[in-house]
Amino acid sequence: MAIDGPSGTGKSSVSRQVAHRIGAGYLDTGAMYRVATLHVLRGAVDTTDPVAVAHAVRGLPVSVGSDALVEEILLNGEDVSAEIRGDAVTAAVSAVSAVPEVRAALVEVQRALGRARERMVVEGRDIGTVVLPDADVKVFLTATAEARAHRRNRQNVSAGGADDYAAVLESVRRRDHLDSTRVASPLRPADDARVVDTSDLGFDDVVQLLTELARENMGAAL
Ligand code: C5P
Repeated sequence: MAIDGPSGTGKSSVSRQVAHRIGAGYLDTGAMYRVATLHVLRGAVDTTDPVAVAHAVRGLPVSVGSDALVEEILLNGEDVSAEIRGDAVTAAVSAVSAVPEVRAALVEVQRALGRARERMVVEGRDIGTVVLPDADVKVFLTATAEARAHRRNRQNVSAGGADDYAAVLESVRRRDHLDSTRVASPLRPADDARVVDTSDLGFDDVVQLLTELARENMGAAL
């Protein structure tokens, strides 16, 4: 099952919950691009230099777990699951993930992980279009930039961070623009994806809808 869409649609929490409900493994491909970005930043590599970024990411020692309810993201054996969500990585990840060599290397790993278990929910930006074009179910979750910024800002506040809706909205728009205009695998729904606008839907409604889609399209033995 491929679940794509921009940030702030509730995609990760929904994907994990759907994977859990249908007894599937789960892969967060955004976390992999974030690990690559952290590695580049730690190596003091200039993120605006695609040649240097491509070189730095070669042989990236990343390992991600496939359990829907346990987040395991390792860089060289170190748990970096919190650090990859920080501002420094978030600000640089669009530039790093736009480098074609970075995408090629990670897509290969994602395809292998996506096929490692009988059922997998794989979430990202290009899963239905590039990584797993023959997925049984393809969903594109979307929502207005304002709805997504409100969600992100609420998350920041409840995590003890600043309450700054305007800055969050600007960052959401900036990443949308970078992700959808890049040359390599721009963010867009696959032609055969079910597009779901979550602006006015609650978490449980989205989970229910996607679980039903999975049940209808991923075999009766669920
Ligand atoms: O999903 P998340 O917000 O963690 O993804 C971080 C970034 O990684 C995205 O903004 C995008 O630039 C990149 N990404 C990507 N392709 C994917 C998943 C994420 O380019 N399949």
